[in-house]
Amino acid sequence: MNRENADNTMMKILSKYAVDGKKPMVMLHVCCAPCASASIERIHPLTRLTLLFYNPNIMPQQEYEKRKSELIRMVKENPDYADVKFVDVDYDNSEYLQFVRGHEKDEEQGERCTLCFSLRLRKTAQMAKLYGCDFFATTLTIGPKKNTDVISAVGRGIAKEEGIEYLPTDFKRKKGYERSLQLSNELALYRQSYCGCAFARK
Ligand code: SF4
Repeated sequence: MNRENADNTMMKILSKYAVDGKKPMVMLHVCCAPCASASIERIHPLTRLTLLFYNPNIMPQQEYEKRKSELIRMVKENPDYADVKFVDVDYDNSEYLQFVRGHEKDEEQGERCTLCFSLRLRKTAQMAKLYGCDFFATTLTIGPKKNTDVISAVGRGIAKEEGIEYLPTDFKRKKGYERSLQLSNELALYRQSYCGCAFARK
């Protein structure tokens, strides 16, 4: 079976809007500043963005706060992003632990990660509806260890259930991940050494 090029799919969707001089409203789930740096750079010219920092998977809380404040700093320091909005959700790691119960010992990239994507994308879809967005999307696809096909399948499933469109992305394409490393250096962004949860940290 051919793998979808989700980056091409995204560009086709956004280009249709651009023909009419429109920019759709996108609720973009953001996992951290380094991943957001290159993802926002790519999508911002074609969209009206609201960033959602919903990551109850991150442990410990100091790490969560650090990643969040770094994201806010990065956006605030870029005058081109003056129109980018930011939405925060209260931190509650128990939501995540409950959701992945029974999968604590799964390998990274296994079922626990699929559940983790699902938890975060569900909230993103719900917030997108609340804020009147056209689409929801995520920066998670920039990670080299994150399977875009799995994320797209999760996003589309949730889109059907929640009644709002998922915007497929594959931010790692077109050297997106390499660009995030470059921007992280240029902007002196904090780069964590583990994905987020206590299980991956071990
Ligand atoms: S390794 Fe990352 S994606 Fe997987 S469950 Fe942990 S935080 Fe979530």
